[in-house]
Amino acid sequence: MNVTEIFETMEYGPAPESPTLVLDWLKERQPFGLFINGQWVKPASGKYLDTINPSTGKPLAQVAAANSKDVDAAVTAARAAAETWSKTPGHTRARYLYAIARHIQKHSRLLAVLESMDNSKPIRETRDLDIPLVARHFYYHAGWAQLMATELPGYEPVGVVGQIIPWNFPLLMLSWKIAPALAMGNTVVLKPARYTPLTALKFAEIVQEIGLPPGVVNILTGEASQVGDALVRHPGVNKIAFTGSTDVGRTLRRATAGSGKKLSLELGGKSPFIVFDDADLDSVVEGVVDAIWFNQGQVCCAGSRLLVQEDIADRLINKLRARMEKLRIGDPLDKAVDIGAIVSSAQLKEIQRLVAQGVEEGAVMWQPSWACPTEGYFFPPTLFTNVSPATTIAQIEIFGPVLVSMTFRTPTEAVELANNTRYGLAASVWSENINLAMDVAPKLKAGTVWVNCTNLFDASSGFGGYRESGFGREGGKEGLYEYVRPMWETSSSSSNGLPIAIESTHSSDGSEQVVSTDQVGEDEEDHAAVSESSNGYHLAFPAIDRTPKMFINGKQVRPDSGYSRDVYDPRGHVIGQVGEGNRKDIRNAVEAAHAAGGWASSTTHNRAQILYYIAENLSARAEEFAKRIVEQTGRSGADTATEVQAAISRLFSYAAWADKYEGAVHRPPLRGVVLAMKESIGVIGMACPSEYPLLGFISLVAPAIAMGNTVIAIPSQQSPLSAIDCYQVLETSDLPAGVVNIVTGDRDTLSQVLADHDDVESMWYFGPAEGCKRVELASAGNMKRTWVNYGHQRNWLDLVQGEGEEFLHESTHVKNIWVPYGE
Ligand code: NAD
Repeated sequence: MNVTEIFETMEYGPAPESPTLVLDWLKERQPFGLFINGQWVKPASGKYLDTINPSTGKPLAQVAAANSKDVDAAVTAARAAAETWSKTPGHTRARYLYAIARHIQKHSRLLAVLESMDNSKPIRETRDLDIPLVARHFYYHAGWAQLMATELPGYEPVGVVGQIIPWNFPLLMLSWKIAPALAMGNTVVLKPARYTPLTALKFAEIVQEIGLPPGVVNILTGEASQVGDALVRHPGVNKIAFTGSTDVGRTLRRATAGSGKKLSLELGGKSPFIVFDDADLDSVVEGVVDAIWFNQGQVCCAGSRLLVQEDIADRLINKLRARMEKLRIGDPLDKAVDIGAIVSSAQLKEIQRLVAQGVEEGAVMWQPSWACPTEGYFFPPTLFTNVSPATTIAQIEIFGPVLVSMTFRTPTEAVELANNTRYGLAASVWSENINLAMDVAPKLKAGTVWVNCTNLFDASSGFGGYRESGFGREGGKEGLYEYVRPMWETSSSSSNGLPIAIESTHSSDGSEQVVSTDQVGEDEEDHAAVSESSNGYHLAFPAIDRTPKMFINGKQVRPDSGYSRDVYDPRGHVIGQVGEGNRKDIRNAVEAAHAAGGWASSTTHNRAQILYYIAENLSARAEEFAKRIVEQTGRSGADTATEVQAAISRLFSYAAWADKYEGAVHRPPLRGVVLAMKESIGVIGMACPSEYPLLGFISLVAPAIAMGNTVIAIPSQQSPLSAIDCYQVLETSDLPAGVVNIVTGDRDTLSQVLADHDDVESMWYFGPAEGCKRVELASAGNMKRTWVNYGHQRNWLDLVQGEGEEFLHESTHVKNIWVPYGE
């Protein structure tokens, strides 16, 4: 087409970017080696793999196929480097991250073209979005490296981090992983996706260029079955950070369960794009283009479910079809192209299969009249109408340029439809009525909500999901917690990073009495003292003829099983019975906890008042509670009185935090704000520690309810009476029914039921290492969050170990609500 013709038709002319520099760069280096300990090395297997240009279907370059030996070498290098890097001052780390950001900018065009060729993203996107965001991520985290010592006191790096990333935003996902890890003083071994390894290899060159110490960043290309698996299982890795599909995320949850490795999972989505009838429809159309045709729809947070208010549905669909006719598909290096090719032939076939299934299921499919290029893996933008919410295409992540649309009548129906998914990654709300938009946003189960915009990202605003979209956040201050752990875990003399030795003695029924090694002597002394009636407290009460019941939905209930279990004092005397809870009791408790979900929307002032009130009522009965602990544990009266006072103080702490653990307002580079709101997680199951029967229970329950969660608590297995006594306190403290439910019985059996339960959003477990493993394994079912102690014992009396931000962090999600403004 010549200029005159373009002038006549007003058609776009081609605007191709030259691939020459990138092709030369590839030619000089391939076959690529592995990047281990700052060096390029040959793979142990001697094998290489092709990486394909999806828009031509032809090989682009050869990269090394690593195996478990290479993983070993890389982890060894990372471990050695961690010794120094973890102690390198924040300012020094900040300088390195800053240098990386600068070098990314220096090589920005090469990176943009390379990414476009390897993945087939349009160059407009790699040039204007991916690469600038990568640089921004390193700049932003240079800042956190600088500030770590003052802003995260009491935290230290996790160690060596294994990082596994997908192919849809290859360099961007790398930056989301590596920048926070390095900023917090960790070293990394990163595996890029099989289809898109090239920009990660260019990144390795940058790491060399800036003189990052060897071993701090290691990059291994290869097959998931060889590299990914070995990395996940490697004992020298302290944390796995994964972005990818929910299925693989579930496998990793199971593989790491009980290993003590920290895990963060950024998984799939099926995000709603909600359009109310007062929305600006022209903006909506452009929004939809960005939501689902950006990056060929291969976006975890793609707005793939268009939910439209019924009265404007026809008008919007017609506008959308007209716009789809104008979308331009083709060579991703052409700057006038909107849509490139799908990443691989396998992915293309999967999209074709799901689209065919949508047609079979009765939905109406529409595609533009123009044809796709015949070479390469292209698929046209596709719109489904007449979609029923339960069908496959409305529920499954298609991960391609396929939009399914449905209608709703009222805002309530819109929220229900939006939340009718197992995912919870992102959502977009379109309305000119800010009241409506801001009313709907908090009701959406999603980690990010965009108001009148979509697919906006920034390093300052954490990104991550709920439910089967995974857990953990990337970006923002909240993302840093994924790469640190409390210092006390390693600094406490007895732990040294390994589980504290737990000794168990058995009562006459065979149940465990757990005491840490260093408590044994003390306890023996206490027993003697107590038997002589020290401080007015008696150990040897006669067995109490009383069966404390369980506490479900605000009522004292008998166990479904009809059985009770005896509770013993340390000498093996029966001092009472508690109900033997079972699956049915847990199910009832979960139902009650769900029904009490309104607690999350009660005011923080109200929640604080109730916590103070619980403290007040506990205080009125302090002496009785202290005696009860003496009875169960044989500890001294003074010691147990301290425990009760600590529990009262803890309730005060969380009453104080209830209206102070607030979110933030981010100011990303856009006209507008991002409201980072700390939200409750939902229903939390919790197995309380064996030690400190009252304080252990309060230390877990109080932060959870202060933040608006509802809970099902399994009290200390051998000393459950203190928690059970609390129900009388709760009943008189105006706590709504169902907010706290207490089920007694076998800790591990009940924990298993909670961890398996699909309606429990998070599970906390403070018990032996094997129990932690079982909880982590079972949680893979609905990908619930878990918080376990890996058998480490905490000092619950200690203000750092027993209360504080760690507990509040585990009780909340951060939801980022993007609100651009201006005409
Ligand atoms: P994938 O799960 O197939 O692969 C992701 C990565 O894991 C790849 O590097 C792969 O080689 C590796 N892998 C696969 N099996 C493994 C195993 N058993 N052990 C260890 N590693 C293994 O996902 P994908 O197809 O590359 O990416 C698409 C998925 O990623 C989509 O579901 C998308 O929603 C998700 N995603 C999520 C986010 C987010 O932030 N939530 C961002 C981008 C993509």
